Amino acid sequence: MDAGDLHIIRRMSIASINPATGETIATFEAHTSADIEQKLQRAVEAFGVNRARSFAQRASLMNRAAEILESRANEFARTITLEMGKPIAAAVAEVKKCANVCRFYAQHAETYLAPEHIKTDAQESYVRFDPLGPVLAVMPWNFPFWQVFRFAAPALMAGNVGLLKHASNVPQSALAIEDVFREAGFDQGEFQTLLITSEQVAAVLDDERVKAATLTGSEPAGASVASSAAKRIKKSVLELGGSDPFIVMPSADLDAAVKIGIKARIVNNGQSCIAAKRFIVHDEIADEFQKRFVAAMASLKIGDPLDEKTEVGPLATPQIVDDLEKQVNASVEKGSTLLTGGKRIGESGNFFAPTVLANIPKDAPAYDEETFGPVASLFRVKDAREAIALANATQFGLGASVWTRDRNEAEQFIRDVESGQVFVNAMVASDPRVPFGGVKHSGFGRELGVYGIREFVNIKTVWVA
Ligand code: NAP
Repeated sequence: MDAGDLHIIRRMSIASINPATGETIATFEAHTSADIEQKLQRAVEAFGVNRARSFAQRASLMNRAAEILESRANEFARTITLEMGKPIAAAVAEVKKCANVCRFYAQHAETYLAPEHIKTDAQESYVRFDPLGPVLAVMPWNFPFWQVFRFAAPALMAGNVGLLKHASNVPQSALAIEDVFREAGFDQGEFQTLLITSEQVAAVLDDERVKAATLTGSEPAGASVASSAAKRIKKSVLELGGSDPFIVMPSADLDAAVKIGIKARIVNNGQSCIAAKRFIVHDEIADEFQKRFVAAMASLKIGDPLDEKTEVGPLATPQIVDDLEKQVNASVEKGSTLLTGGKRIGESGNFFAPTVLANIPKDAPAYDEETFGPVASLFRVKDAREAIALANATQFGLGASVWTRDRNEAEQFIRDVESGQVFVNAMVASDPRVPFGGVKHSGFGRELGVYGIREFVNIKTVWVA
């Protein structure tokens, strides 16, 4: 391999490729060590600027970022859809949600980070929340704007600065986000996109100027970034995968459970960490739920994600289709019943038919693995205890959705399901007002709400005798 080949590999690994057609839209050269050095230096200088600002000054810039997101929502949404394939209406909603999180932290950061006075035998004792410095954010492609903004809005409002290593298939989204902050008036170094491959991440984390890291993505990537951070005694937050249960009990509103269950499974073409993946249904209503659920999955409109009527678009990359197909085939080989779908569709693009599996044995991938696409696993249980045992029979613990109108039963699920969030009679969703994160192999730390903004701060105790 000569220098020319290496150049092509570096260029091809960061690329926008339309998942609906396979067409390469743009390729980007990865930043060199010299480029990274310059950006790290800028980040340090910019930290000096942002930490010295008042909350009101930061809020005015953050509110401006929200205005830019809203006024250019259609343009950004098109970039998202062309890079990773989500239906265009969902992409517009994603950009607007980013504006919302910017406004939310612009409004609440000062209260969330106000010094807390604690009565002791000192003359004065309190806790203050100081920013840490440059924080590296390693982000996934599935919500290419939202994942970044839910980190960046609290991080910048706390006085930190951000360095983004986005997924290699969404470089145009990554660059557009950098532009939003720049146009809003933040300094050049306050939010920078590093166009780097995953192999270059460890070196960035090794640098003393980078103070902490957050990663949203898969378990192997999380383990790798957290261990690089730990080697240098740096804090990390991990938002990893999930195999969320969606439990339906006899007292549930079945119409709503089916309707929301479909939405919760196919959100983002099935590629969401908090998508409902394992449907655990009580025997009493299982036949009816299955009949309606399978019919609804089979009638979803699949197609061009730029078409407003499309409900399920292509998966983001050919690799994701390959992985999903292997999980489905292996599950069927192990004895699962295929109720609908189960195959790729379309002449071109990364399309996979909405799929429902039932009678899934314990050793089948669909039993407890994360299926990152429109594939639902159906299970039947005889009571709440069995539902909880099955819900917890996975290494993940991100979200859980529980459908029941029996308050005592709901309390039992709320208490005993091992997950970072439990939603009763609603689908799991992120909301700036409440914390988001997981337990077990779904990660650690929290984003959003008051807990999110306190992850990347020095919780400093002050004691004045
Ligand atoms: P991924 O392959 O882990 O990639 C995520 C990010 O990590 C990308 O920027 C990727 O860069 C980088 N990366 C991958 N391997 C790395 C390594 N060894 N060292 C450093 N960086 C590395 O995940 P994905 O396929 O994009 O996303 C799907 C996964 O994310 C699913 O498991 C999903 O559940 C999870 N997710 C979790 C949440 C949550 O909030 N809990 C939200 C969304 C998604 P490259 O693209 O360059 O490889």
